[in-house]
Amino acid sequence: MAKILIIGAGGQIGSELTIKLRDLYGKDNVIASDINYQNSEVVNSGLFEIVDAQDYASVKICVDKHKIDTIYLLAAMLSATGEKYPMKAWDLNMNSLFHVLNLAKDGIIKHVFWPSSIAVFGDTTPRTDTPQHTSMEPSTVYGITKQVGERWCEYYHDKYGVDVRSLRYPGIISWKTMPGGGTTDYAVEIFHQAILDQSYESFLSKDTELPMIFMDDAIDATVKIMQAPADTVKIRSSYNLAAISFTPEMLSEIIKRHIPEFKMFYRPDFRQDIADSWPKSIDDSAARNDWGWSHSFDLEAIAKEMLTQLGEKYKDTKKR
Ligand code: NAD
Repeated sequence: MAKILIIGAGGQIGSELTIKLRDLYGKDNVIASDINYQNSEVVNSGLFEIVDAQDYASVKICVDKHKIDTIYLLAAMLSATGEKYPMKAWDLNMNSLFHVLNLAKDGIIKHVFWPSSIAVFGDTTPRTDTPQHTSMEPSTVYGITKQVGERWCEYYHDKYGVDVRSLRYPGIISWKTMPGGGTTDYAVEIFHQAILDQSYESFLSKDTELPMIFMDDAIDATVKIMQAPADTVKIRSSYNLAAISFTPEMLSEIIKRHIPEFKMFYRPDFRQDIADSWPKSIDDSAARNDWGWSHSFDLEAIAKEMLTQLGEKYKDTKKR
């Protein structure tokens, strides 16, 4: 059985992808790794290694030890944090990708998954139904690393035959782990605060529309593109991926239907500029046509699931 290594497994996506891949392929075949042991579910549900994605030797030792065939590279510095530490974001996001692509180029591993983001787009991109192929002038260091990363993925595929597959994730909504410093984090924080405080102060203005996806759908897309026959994965930079689009005000209205006393306040900060440079909605027809992507969760279903799961999680601490 081919062995999988997940790098950055303790984060928002890695923690849920690890559990899904262990269910699918067996816990002995999916090695989770991160620079810390913080996520106990990930650490305790199968094999776990400390790996520093920036250090080629650290990655290679783990790959050799477990005879790894496929790497999911999820370690990265996200958009909002990246604006505070531009050079650290560049170093982490680029070095880690080169280490993994070079392992594949050298024939040491066979398959790579690396996520891009809607942050590859910028002010000159059409903001509604953003096409797969369009103007991309990202204005954040995070977006620059994703755009450059996409170019290198395609280059390694075309020149060296590397089987690298990628998705431009929109903002991801999930309840298990807190998000890691992105511009769409409000759409997760709001549910925690709705339950704990019945109020939330949004760092984006009420009419800021952004593309989002529920974690279960994001994981499903990731598994689907990695399981797809190679000839159906026609785009080797990164696929547009979409589910729904909404504004903070729309989300607030839906939460109020479940928690009538919920109050929403708006105090946009530096993340507003980042959000204003990103698309409102995404055309992901290439992913739907090429390898059969489709989403399941609409906004109502997401809100219901988030409030149910977090209500259970906070049942002993919440005020109401
Ligand atoms: P996250 O910040 O929640 O998790 C990243 C993980 O990487 C953390 O557990 C962190 O400890 C680990 N890490 C950091 N530096 C490391 C290093 N040097 N070596 C090993 N591990 C290290 O991020 P996430 O939200 O899970 O995102 C995963 C990927 O998906 C990233 O590439 C991100 O750009 C992309 N993405 C995420 C979203 C989203 O909404 N979450 C949207 C678009 C794209």
